[in-house]
Amino acid sequence: MRINLLFSLRGKLTAMLLLASLTAALAVGGTAYWLLMQDFNATARETAFTNFQTDIQAYIGTYGSWENARRNQVFHEFVMQRRGPSGSLNPLPGAGGRPALPGETDAGETRRQGAPAGAVHHRDPPFHFMLIDTQGHVLLGGDGRQDTAVGEDLRRHARPISVNGKVDVLAVPVGSPQLSTQDKAYLGAMREALQNGLLAACALTVVMGLVFGSRFGARVRELTSAIQSMRADGEILQQVPVHSRDEMGLLASAFNRMSRELSQAHSALRRTNEQVQSQAAQLKELSVRDPLTQMFNRRYFDEQSALLYQQAMRHGWSVSVMVGDLDYFKSINDDFSHAIGDEVLRRVALILRKNTRSTDIVARYGGEEFVIAFPESTVQQAAIRCEALRAAIEQHTWQEVHPELRVTMSMGLCDDTKRGSIEKMLAAADEGLYEAKRSGRNRVVSC
Ligand code: GH3
Ligand code: MG
Ligand code: MG
Repeated sequence: MRINLLFSLRGKLTAMLLLASLTAALAVGGTAYWLLMQDFNATARETAFTNFQTDIQAYIGTYGSWENARRNQVFHEFVMQRRGPSGSLNPLPGAGGRPALPGETDAGETRRQGAPAGAVHHRDPPFHFMLIDTQGHVLLGGDGRQDTAVGEDLRRHARPISVNGKVDVLAVPVGSPQLSTQDKAYLGAMREALQNGLLAACALTVVMGLVFGSRFGARVRELTSAIQSMRADGEILQQVPVHSRDEMGLLASAFNRMSRELSQAHSALRRTNEQVQSQAAQLKELSVRDPLTQMFNRRYFDEQSALLYQQAMRHGWSVSVMVGDLDYFKSINDDFSHAIGDEVLRRVALILRKNTRSTDIVARYGGEEFVIAFPESTVQQAAIRCEALRAAIEQHTWQEVHPELRVTMSMGLCDDTKRGSIEKMLAAADEGLYEAKRSGRNRVVSC
């Protein structure tokens, strides 16, 4: 029986391995990528805060207080002056020790885009800080909301900036950090590696699934074909190789043991069955044989002669029956012994068997009485054969048994199938026998 690859063990194993490796690769790769991303974002945010904090500390430090500083110089101009055209006064390392990037401080970004002081609008990247005082009033940034109080939600994220050991202002991060080109390239490479890794894992998994599935499937196929041979060919003794000590190996060993035991039980059963059959045949033979003469008995004769009669009637064949009885047999017993009487019976049986056709039904009907059914024989044909039998009995060398022994048989014959049954024909033949006895014995009388 052929099984579609999709539904085969190989197919299922491949699909399961593919699913497992995809899930594992996505989980590990995805988590690693996300964690790296978080790390890069945190570093970018921290660098931006440090730059902003340094600028604010310098701004307030230079003018003594925020109010003074604001009156004297716009913050972003101060930062531009302080950092110079390169904007790298305080080059603080980003992720991986990279230099500070555009947009990592609101001041730097605002300065490069030429935006007005305080109005710290950032298009690319949208990350900057808003400066608030300890009561939450906006000092710098905040979309023109200067001096208004910011909500509790923003204040929760505020980070203190201490100037001269005192916290006067707080920086509130706004927007999300922008990664450097280098970081983006690094993450892009990571993403590409992850995709390629996924593809490679899938290809490897399909190959492995097919190889392992094929090996596993081959072991299952060995078992199933052995079982099919047991069923189809009746070869109960099947042994499959045990490749391993795992469940498949245990299954193969168990199957081999079961097959051996089943085969032994089957052989024993076959032997018993043969014995029973032979005993039944013996019993059947015994049941139809006369033990003294080994001739067929009366039961067999009645069965077979009835069938013969039916056949003869159906086909219009003739059939004759003979009933024979040894003459003065009682005297033989009396004069010579019962043993000699038995020997006479055995020899008469032999003479009858030897001088009849294989199709004739010859039987000991009881005591010293014998019957014969002659198929396809008229009474004239049967009479000739019975006469020959009578003569053979009379002329047998009875002296071998006893010097004075003489044995003859009287016979009655009938072929009148119109009498309706074999029993009725036998009764008619018996009348002939009676007539033969009455008229002097040792003769054949036809009815
Ligand atoms: P007839 O010529 O009128 O037939 O006289 P008969 O003596 O043969 O007839 P009868 O019926 O008087 O005697 C039959 C004898 O056959 C009686 C019985 O003891 C003997 N007989 C029957 N069966 C056996 C047997 O198996 N062995 C021996 N030895 N004798 C048997
Ligand atoms: Mg008799
Ligand atoms: Mg007799």
